[in-house]
Amino acid sequence: MSKKPTIAVTGGAGFIGSHTVVQLVEAGYEVVIIDNLSRSDRTMLDGISRITKTTVPFYEVDCTDPKALDKVFLENSFDAVIHFAAYKAVGESVSMPLDYYENNILSLTTLLRVMNKHAVRSLIFSSSCTVYGEPDMVPVTEQSPIKLANSPYGATKQMCERILEDAKVYGIQAVSLRYFNPIGAHPSGLLGELPIGVPNNLVPFITQSAAGVRGSLTIFGNDYQTPDGTCIRDYIHVVDLADAHVRAFDFIRQQEEASGFHVFNVGTGRGVTVLEVVKEFEEVNKVKLNYSFGPKRPGDIEKVFADPSKAFKSLMWRPKFSMKEALQHAWQWEKNFRKIEQ
Ligand code: UDP
Repeated sequence: MSKKPTIAVTGGAGFIGSHTVVQLVEAGYEVVIIDNLSRSDRTMLDGISRITKTTVPFYEVDCTDPKALDKVFLENSFDAVIHFAAYKAVGESVSMPLDYYENNILSLTTLLRVMNKHAVRSLIFSSSCTVYGEPDMVPVTEQSPIKLANSPYGATKQMCERILEDAKVYGIQAVSLRYFNPIGAHPSGLLGELPIGVPNNLVPFITQSAAGVRGSLTIFGNDYQTPDGTCIRDYIHVVDLADAHVRAFDFIRQQEEASGFHVFNVGTGRGVTVLEVVKEFEEVNKVKLNYSFGPKRPGDIEKVFADPSKAFKSLMWRPKFSMKEALQHAWQWEKNFRKIEQ
């Protein structure tokens, strides 16, 4: 019997990383998690073990540390790497840009050097729809222009994609997945989003507000040029997003060229307003949310949603969960985590 492919998942203890680890294990791959736990929690590792009923090997290593990373690669024989480890808060990146440039760029270049040394040539990269800036037209396709990023975070994603394009010279076959808005949690209720401190993102703020951990939700702006005046986004269930990584690895294995760089939008194709998310959360979970309207959040984009047809066709991927299910799962996870009965 041939050996199962082994995949290193950097940032595997994070929100999307942990769900991807579960999907990879369930698809029959060997997985090794590399995470410095700077923005994640060991709770996620427990959740992964409980769902998969295995212990996934874990290295507490920072991807900007070449020696430590090299040691991980010496001790394992990887077929591919999925690179999630990065800082991801738009607002924070504006106030601490150097940390963002240093961490997000250096971790990728360090990883690529180590991969090159150990002849690991397949990489899946966590990118974001922020690379499109404020788009002139929606939905955005992979051909939509890459505009000036509206935050240092967005700029790091643009630069990392450029680095991957240039890394073809080392024989790297890379797929960059441009995520839209990942939400939800594992249907088991054992894994979910666990932001450190006050959540920046909409859905974890909603669930924490509903759980009484946070005060009332502020909806940032209600005079945008949208049907109800609030921003439009494309919310994708985290398990569907995780599944796109499994498909991306299949895609890489089918490539005949020695190297390449491929980008895919990973979204549902449906644009939804902030108010619609709030209303749907209340309805599906039978919970009343306290909210009020506040000023626009600096750097926010009015309207963005995906044309995901390239991923549908080339990755043979399709989202399976609805937004309703995502909001149910997110609330289920929050209730389990906070031990709330309802
Ligand atoms: N949002 C909001 N209140 C919050 C958090 C987010 O109104 O407490 C809005 C935000 O302005 C945006 C949408 O929810 O229009 C999604 O924001 P999020 O931070 O989740 O993702 P982003 O699209 O900014 O990456």
